This record gives sequence, structure tokens and C-alpha cells, in this order.
Amino acid sequence: MAYHHKQSVDNSLGRNKADLILRGGQIVDVHSGRIKEGDIVVNGHRIVGLYDRSPAFVGSNTKIIDVSGKYVLPGFIEPHIHIESSMLTLTNFSRAVLPHGTTTVINDPHEIANVMGVRGVRQMMDEGHYTNLRFYFTIPSCVPSLSEEFETCGTFFSVEDIKSLLEEKSAIGLGEMMNYPGVIAPKIDVLAKIYETYRMRGFKKKPPIIDGHCPGLTGLELSAYINAGIMADHECSTGAELEERLAKGMFVMVRNGSYAKNTRELLEYVIENQIDTRRLMFCSDDRNPYDLLNKGHIDQTLAMAMELAKESGWKLKPFEIIRMATLNPAEFFHMPYRGRLGIGTRADITIVENLEKFNVWATLRNGELVAQKGHVVNDVQDYPYHENILNSVRIKRTFSVDDFQVRSGAKRQKVRIIEMIPGQLTTGNIIHKLEVKNGFLEADINRDILKIAVIERHRGNNNFSVGYVKGFGIKSGAVAI
Ligand SMILES: [Zn+2]
Repeated sequence: MAYHHKQSVDNSLGRNKADLILRGGQIVDVHSGRIKEGDIVVNGHRIVGLYDRSPAFVGSNTKIIDVSGKYVLPGFIEPHIHIESSMLTLTNFSRAVLPHGTTTVINDPHEIANVMGVRGVRQMMDEGHYTNLRFYFTIPSCVPSLSEEFETCGTFFSVEDIKSLLEEKSAIGLGEMMNYPGVIAPKIDVLAKIYETYRMRGFKKKPPIIDGHCPGLTGLELSAYINAGIMADHECSTGAELEERLAKGMFVMVRNGSYAKNTRELLEYVIENQIDTRRLMFCSDDRNPYDLLNKGHIDQTLAMAMELAKESGWKLKPFEIIRMATLNPAEFFHMPYRGRLGIGTRADITIVENLEKFNVWATLRNGELVAQKGHVVNDVQDYPYHENILNSVRIKRTFSVDDFQVRSGAKRQKVRIIEMIPGQLTTGNIIHKLEVKNGFLEADINRDILKIAVIERHRGNNNFSVGYVKGFGIKSGAVAI
């Protein structure tokens, strides 16, 4: 043990030669809120020198990267995402986000859990170890999301399933508790999942993390939800929701997803009302591959936040914004060696060209260069999926056009329609009249009222249903998800 500490001391004094030196960058210190020029010295996975330049660090094997004129930041942390909605494997997701400066991701694999249960989650966790990103997992708390009365999913997660997954090394806590009605009812089997997470993590002397999901919850019910042990929420769509959650002791993840876009509205409120940001983080929740490749990841959210802050005359400081993607999530998840650049911290480092657009120049993870100028470097091999993880779609019948026809005896028929709301996950419920042709209800492309069908694909029980949706915007063809 003492030998390890001797090594650390020798590393920082330059008695051991450095593996890597980032030379002459503008180092962003998220603690003091200062930017100072200097070198960063890395040995192994950790930062051993900061600001000081000494020839003692340089040996024949020391790699030196000139980063003068560039900003050196802690690697970005994604505090809540479902990788499955990116439609990418963990390996390909890493390839997509490392060039955007993300180094740590907390994944909630509740979609794979819905399909394949514990087996699917374990497979994902295993793949995570082989990527260049650092993946942690919150264990899905709600499989199915609410209860089996409302959906037919591939599996059901019991308290025992959750406990067995919490044993895994990369498990960090309980995933978003979507069943908030179950918490405040209260249903004992729902509360047992929270209780067991506290018990198991406490037993291992690790901090429990219980993530939340409570859109619209307020007043006494919100207090009850928090008092059941839930710590964070990423479902705020109004400033009032955000403020009440912070005031009652929650952390709030400000979401910038492909579908749910709450960042602009929430940050405008934060700026206008001068809300303290130390318990705010940026999260994606769901991000599709188009956005990941074309718009980016956390870097895009940071650029958007900087623009809003600039418009406000910097009522929100650049450091506060950067902390929301680095120090704040690291503190929430009890990761003292991530989310900041300090002596002894992990060398997870993102180097950007500027602090406006955050054009990422290079990303380092554990002291290794993993992306540079938009491309991954030192890439990993593709993960070999076992046969038993493939071919999970079970449909035991064929479908024809007739299956999607909706009969009506009327000439025009009143129809209840799902209304999509841009930038929100919640939907509206509207009634429109639709034409009937040859005894069948017609979709109405001109009014953007289209057919939507859901087909049971887990158990092959042949269940399916057809409905109508407004706001999709496609004029021809069909989409299968
Ligand atoms: Zn989520």
C-alpha cells in the first residue's frame, strides 16, 4: 500500500517519467472557475501534474501533445440515457460519442430489459467493458414500465432480478422509478425495489443512487416520492417543476433528447430566476443516430447553453454550464475522480477548440487518446454477440393490408387520435372526423392523420391493434420500429 503512495509521490515529482504530457493548453478548472495556461502530466490512468512544467517529467517514451490555444476540460458525463434508443450497440455508440468529448455514460438499459430481461442487461454490461467509453449502469426499476395490465413485455423484473444485477461491478444504483403512482400509492413491491437498493449498496459501503421520473408531480405527492428515497428527475418540462424539485432536495437532469427537448425552456427559467446550478446536469435520455452523428452529444447541449447564456449577458456563467456536464454529475454519482481535472483524478480529458461551439479536437479516456478531429483512434474490435441474444422478434403470423383496415358502417366517422406534441414525450388526445371509403376508414395525409399499429413481438401471441396518429409528417411509405 505504502509502495503505491511512494509511486504516486515519485510520479508527481518527475522521478518516474510521464507517459503523456498535454503541453500548453488553457486548463479549465471547474472548482475555482478559472482558466489558466499550463501542462497536464499523465502517468497510467491518472493526472499526476497540473500547470507546472518540468524537464524531469520528460523521458524517452513520454508522448507530448501540443494543445496550445485549445481548452482542456474534464471529459463529459452523460448522466442518463437509454442506449437502445440510439439503435446502436454500445461499441458503435462509443464510436459515435467519443469524438464529441463524452467519456463516461450512465446507461439505463430498460429497453433491453423489456425484451430480454436479466440476460440482455448482463450482455450489455459485458460489452460495456470492451469499449473505450466508461459505462455505468442503473438497474431498470420498472419492467414493464407501469404494470402488466397495460402492456405485454418480454419479461418481468422482480426484486430478486434487480438484486442480482446490483451485484455487477458496473451497477451503480436503481434506474428511473417510472412507476411514481406505485411509489405514492404506496405499493409495497414497488417500494421493495428502492429498499433493497439502499440495503445492498449500503451493505457494500457504496452510496445508493435512486434515479427518478415524475413528470408533473407536485406538492405533497412530490414530497412523498422524494421521501421514498428518489434522488433525481429528468422529466421537468417547466421551470416551476425544476424549482420545486431543487427546493425539495432533488437533483435535476435538464434533458436535450431527440424527442424530448426541455433544455431551452428550463435554462431560460434558470437564467431569468437566477437559480443555482450546482444540482443541475445535462442528459439526453433518448438520442437517435442522426442527431448523434450530425448534431453531437453533450457538446451540442453545451453549445446551446452557451448561446443562451451569452444572449442573457452572461447571467449564467460559462463555468456553471461546463459543471453541468462534468462536476455536477460526478458529484451526484459519487465519482470523486471524474468530472474535474485535479492531481490524482482519472485522465478523462476533452480538448476543445473554443468554449462557444465546443468543437472537440481530441478526447482522452484513462490517459489514452480515443478520438481526434472527429474520428475515433485506438478503436476496439466489434463485440461478438452470442446467438442467444439475436432474433428476439417473435411473430407467428404473416400480415396483409387487410389486417390494417378499420371497418366502419358510417359515411364519416369520429375517431380518437393520438396527437404528437413536438419536443415532448407526452401526447394529446384529439377527435377528428375521417372519411369512410368502401366500408373502411381512410387515413388523411393532407391533415397528417396517419395509421399506427402496434404488434406484440415478445411472446408471439398474435395480438395487434391499429390506431391513428397526428403529427408524424410522412407523406408516403411506412416506418417500422
Ligand atoms: Zn429515461
